[in-house]
This record gives sequence, C-alpha cells and structure tokens, in this order.
Amino acid sequence: MLRCTYCGAPLNISRKVAEAALQALDEQGLEHFDYPCPRCRKINKISRRALERLAPRRGATTQNQA
Ligand SMILES: [Zn+2]
Repeated sequence: MLRCTYCGAPLNISRKVAEAALQALDEQGLEHFDYPCPRCRKINKISRRALERLAPRRGATTQNQA
C-alpha cells in the first residue's frame, strides 16, 4: 500500500491507473508519476518501480500474488 509522503493517507492507485501511468512514463521518458493525494492534494511522485508492482506486466514476473 502506497501512502502519501506528506500526510500519510493511503493512495489507492488501481491497477488500471498504474497501467496508464506506466504507459505515460514510457511515452514521456519519465521515471516518476505525479499523483495527487486525495486528502491533502499534494503531488506524490510515484516511482516506476512502485507502479510496476501495482500493475505487473505480462511476462515480466512469475510471482503469484493473491
Ligand atoms: Zn496527503
């Protein structure tokens, strides 16, 4: 579970959002996705690695996480 860096609120980033974010990062050549906190509205920088954990790409991982 990702949390806001500023206020600690949980950031509920869905798999769909994470997938779209990864695509945007690829297109723009960025390493961090700007995600506004739902509580304090500050921008959290979500790393590509964290997004990949939320939306594992097919074939990229063989882990079975329920
Ligand atoms: Zn916050």
